Amino acid sequence: MFTRRHFIASAAATLAAPAIVRAQSIWRRYPFSLGVAAGDPSPDGFVIWTRLAPEPLAEHAGMVMAPMNVAWEVASDSGFATIVARGDAAARPELAHSVHVEVAGLQPDRPYWYRFQAGGERSIIGRARTLPAASASPASLKFGVAGCQAYDDGYYTAYRHLAREELAFVYHYGDYIYEYRGGTIRPGFGGGVTVSVREAVGDTLYGIADYRRRYAQYKSDPDLVRAHAAHAFFHSFDDHEIANNWVQEIVDGGATPEVFRVRRAAALQAWYEHMPVRRAQMPRFGDVAMRRAVRYGDLAEIDILDTRQFRTDQPCEDGFKPRCEGVGAANASVLGAEQEAWLTQNLRRDPTLWNCVAQQIMMMALDRRTRDEPAPIYNMDAWVGYEAPRRRLLNRMAGLNNVVVLTGDEHQNFAGLLHDGDRPVAVEFVATSISSGGDGQDVRPGSDRILANNPQLKFINDQRGYITCEVGRDEWRTHYMVMDRVSTPGGAISRRATATVARGTPDLTIV
Ligand code: FE
Ligand code: CA
Repeated sequence: MFTRRHFIASAAATLAAPAIVRAQSIWRRYPFSLGVAAGDPSPDGFVIWTRLAPEPLAEHAGMVMAPMNVAWEVASDSGFATIVARGDAAARPELAHSVHVEVAGLQPDRPYWYRFQAGGERSIIGRARTLPAASASPASLKFGVAGCQAYDDGYYTAYRHLAREELAFVYHYGDYIYEYRGGTIRPGFGGGVTVSVREAVGDTLYGIADYRRRYAQYKSDPDLVRAHAAHAFFHSFDDHEIANNWVQEIVDGGATPEVFRVRRAAALQAWYEHMPVRRAQMPRFGDVAMRRAVRYGDLAEIDILDTRQFRTDQPCEDGFKPRCEGVGAANASVLGAEQEAWLTQNLRRDPTLWNCVAQQIMMMALDRRTRDEPAPIYNMDAWVGYEAPRRRLLNRMAGLNNVVVLTGDEHQNFAGLLHDGDRPVAVEFVATSISSGGDGQDVRPGSDRILANNPQLKFINDQRGYITCEVGRDEWRTHYMVMDRVSTPGGAISRRATATVARGTPDLTIV
């Protein structure tokens, strides 16, 4: 595609249409098909990302396997009248021709606009906000929480709506892709079969080319492109970026730890290549240092956790089960010793009004019975399967009276209280999926039982969408934004409920 012939063809087209002023392009197809993204904002900058992919589903996404120069610029206005930073970056074949630029030296707490240029073509314009200075006292913060976006299960219209929200950033709790085999009919999440509303290409993902192609297809979605162009994201990962319910080097399906590690390394490299994350999150010998702390002035600290890479195996052979002996294992761990110590230290610190723990798996110990069964049923892939570390963490939250836990994974909305013994110590908001699970309904059959069996649970809803958090100095409000449908394009969003928390009181009110 870098042939002289295409170069001439494109120059001739320019001559034939003199009214269109554009640089000569070397491309046969538009190279910025996956859009742009920004991530990990700080008070003085953020990461800007793109990937050259003229043919997203083709081998090497249609790229020649050589490095290519990509120019970038950041402006303080949407018209790019004032460029405040610019440079060149190499899109390298080792990293699927992705580009990650850590922009620094910007002003705190304001929007910027960025774009890329390569071979005579320009990307769309992205927008990102820097964070306030650590010493600032912001009156408020509004951010979004989203994740679980199975391409086959629904359209990303929720992302189109998210793009229109006024937000400082978005926290993505993971399941950005799903590693399942694509197709029209697949096994459903809760048994039965799911009929795809659109088809992911390819078989089950194992090698790096498989994962790259899945990301390329997902990221071609125009609503997802819009959301990334509108807001900077803080990305984490959950299980489906790699494989269903993996932890450490353990996965279902018979692969030994050595063999799974090969697959995990490929998946995490592809994750890095497609996420606007910093060099610190580049895989190193197959591991990613994913956890990080985000400071929003003196208003909030957000600790982003990694609940997969260091977790011990799920007890009771995983699944939704009655309690077995393994749940009480004293040496069980969700975060690993080092991350747990880091979080403990962050929760002890008192520089911010709110402590927010942004993670993946549900922390409330919910009895999941939806019909008559003799014993409570628990999700062994959630914190409830890890009694000892769960108790330790909730005990450390006791007395802080400013802890809000944000969770994904469940493909449903939940709001409820977390207890240390009998006393509530924190609130938990579980954000529903963007598309995973399909249209849904207000209340899933049997969920009335879950509400009745779990007094700590205050709200449950089974529609797709996202949540937004409006954080004030005295009050936290979480808005549950739900879609009427995702099975066809053009679905409408509405605010299903708002949960309010007064700082100093670990309790919530649903309106
Ligand atoms: Fe999911
Ligand atoms: Ca998950």
